[in-house]
Amino acid sequence: MDPVTTMIDPFGRSISYLRVSVTDRCDFRCTYCMAEDMTFLPKKDLLSLEELDRLCAVFIEKGVRKLRLTGGEPLVRKNIMHLVRQVSRHLATGALDELTLTTNGSQLSRYAAELADCGVERINVSLDTLDKDKFRHVTRWGDLSKVMAGIDAGQAAGLKVKLNAVALKGFNEAELPEMLVWAHGRGMDFTVIETMPMGEIDADRTDQYLPLSLLRAQLERQFTLTDIPYRTGGPARYVEVKETGGRLGFITPLTHNFCESCNRVRLTCTGTLYMCLGQDDAADLRTPLRASEGNELVSSAIDEAIGRKPKGHDFVIDRRTKRPAVGRHMSVTGG
Ligand code: SAM
Ligand code: SF4
Repeated sequence: MDPVTTMIDPFGRSISYLRVSVTDRCDFRCTYCMAEDMTFLPKKDLLSLEELDRLCAVFIEKGVRKLRLTGGEPLVRKNIMHLVRQVSRHLATGALDELTLTTNGSQLSRYAAELADCGVERINVSLDTLDKDKFRHVTRWGDLSKVMAGIDAGQAAGLKVKLNAVALKGFNEAELPEMLVWAHGRGMDFTVIETMPMGEIDADRTDQYLPLSLLRAQLERQFTLTDIPYRTGGPARYVEVKETGGRLGFITPLTHNFCESCNRVRLTCTGTLYMCLGQDDAADLRTPLRASEGNELVSSAIDEAIGRKPKGHDFVIDRRTKRPAVGRHMSVTGG
């Protein structure tokens, strides 16, 4: 079904993908994502699940075909399944092609079956290592066995699970080939991500940054990688791994800027719309949403925001650039 309307930005890109961060809170404190003593938003600043649902509906009416729930950790938001159930009605009407989720997997064994029942078909699980001690180290608070149980439950419920790992120099660099073989052996696509300079953390990002061009060269010593045109609507570029028969994705915001084909915008749990992951400009949708029971005000606020979507981001990680490109943490917009 063609969208009723389409949102087109100043560079002719059609905006059909909305990512919604339903909470900035998380039960982990991944070292590259958050500081250990993060301050979270006061609960009173959050949009209610009903308000989030209303905003999602407006975006879908305006041409969004794919919606991803993220966070913080989306599955720690109270009553999150109520929102999933509500938004899933747009799958039933055909107005939405896909409803999906990015999760750390810690709560997945509890929710996998219900997610599948709501029409969620694919989910991304973030996992940076298969070693339980290293996992505890990188997540600070996480328990690998819970995530593994979550992945099992996801697959048992029929969800197509994709694994995402942030490539971290000296941390999981040497383990990534093993993770790739493990993921493919379980029928999961595997995607590696470059660290992005977002928000102050307790570490120096230049120490963590591993350019994926380098990783690819390392992997090519062991595996035969063939570029393939496979796309999931996100920024990953895929190769097929001959030895495993599986797909490997690269998300390379630093070494290869993917902005020219950007089709997405990001909504936070306070109703702030970010038009670019790597820029600070944002639009407040909460005020127009609450100002009227009808959707005209919020709809025109969205049009105005899309009308100033920037061309791209200016991420850079080097020794001279000490400050993050944007002050907010990834957990605000969910990646
Ligand atoms: N908590 C969920 C999770 O971990 O999947 C969803 C939110 S998390 C912010 C989304 C993704 O962003 C995760 O795959 C995480 O590894 C990644 N991420 C967080 N901070 C990042 C950073 N600074 N650079 C690159 N990726 C980052
Ligand atoms: Fe939480 Fe995800 Fe950030 Fe880790 S990457 S701290 S799981 S939001």
